[in-house]
Amino acid sequence: MQHILLLGGTTEARALAESLHAHGTRVTTSLAGRVAAPRLPPGEVRVGGFGGVEGLAGWLREHQVDVLIDATHPFAGTISFNAARAADLAHVPLLALRRPGWAPVEGDDWHFADSLPDAARLLPALGRRVFLTTGRMGLAAFAPVDGTWFLVRSVDPPEPPFPVRMEVLLDRGPFTLDGERDLLHRHRIDVLVTKDSGGAATAPKLTAAREASIPVLVVRRPPVPEGVPVAATPGEALAWVTARG
Ligand code: NAP
Repeated sequence: MQHILLLGGTTEARALAESLHAHGTRVTTSLAGRVAAPRLPPGEVRVGGFGGVEGLAGWLREHQVDVLIDATHPFAGTISFNAARAADLAHVPLLALRRPGWAPVEGDDWHFADSLPDAARLLPALGRRVFLTTGRMGLAAFAPVDGTWFLVRSVDPPEPPFPVRMEVLLDRGPFTLDGERDLLHRHRIDVLVTKDSGGAATAPKLTAAREASIPVLVVRRPPVPEGVPVAATPGEALAWVTARG
C-alpha cells in the first residue's frame, strides 16, 4: 500500500486526506502545530516541524513515504521550498496542491503588495480603519503604522509585537457575506487587507468590500518552487495519485 505524507494546515489538505483515506490509501497528515485545537483529518496525524530540509528528507526515508503532497497554505513559503528540496534528496515524487488565487471583478478597487511589510508601507495612503485578515503571525509588520486603527481577525490570540490601536476578533472561517457586511459597517472599516489566499471560505469579505466601495490591499503569493507539478483541487490531486498506482 502507498504511504502518502500530506503537508497540511488547509481545508483542501483535510478534504484530500478524507478522499485518500476513503480510497484505502495510507495517509499521514503533518501539521505545523500553530493552531491550538486544529480540526483533525482521518488517517495518521503528526504535529510539529521536521527540523528543516534534512529533517524532512530523513522523515520521508524513515517512514518509507512513496509520495509527498504539499497542501500547505499558499503563503507557507518556507515549508514548500523545504518540501521541494527534501523530495529531491529522498527521491520521492512531490505534488503541490494549491487552490487558485482570487481575481478582481468589475467594481473592485484592489491594490497589490509584494509582502506584509510592503502592505504596511502602502496602507496609510488607503485608509485609517483597517480590517486586517492576514493572520496573527505577520502582525509585527503593521506595528509601526501610525494613526491607524486595526480590526484583526485570527484563529488564536496574537502575540506582540502588534499595532497599539487594535481590536482582536477570534474566529475561524468559513465566513458569511452578511457577517462580513456587518463587520465592515459596525467598525466603520475604510480599507481591507488580505493575502491572496484564494478559496471560497474567506472570499465573502471581498464581495462585502466591493459593495461598500472599500479599497482592498491584496498581498501577492510567493511562487510555487520551480518544476513542482500543481493540482488546483483535492480531486485533481487524488487523480494524480491514483494515476501513479
Ligand atoms: P512556513 O513559514 O512555510 O514554515 C515555517 C516552518 O514551520 C517550516 O520550516 C516547518 O518547520 C514548519 N512547518 C510548516 N508547515 C508545516 C507542516 N504542515 N508540517 C510540519 N511542519 C511545518 O509556514 P507558516 O506560514 O508558518 O504556516 C504554518 C502552517 O500553517 C502550514 O502548515 C500552513 O498550511 C498553515 N497555514 C498557514 C497560513 C499562512 O498564511 N501562512 C494560513 C493558514 C494556514 P521545520 O523547518 O522545522 O520542518
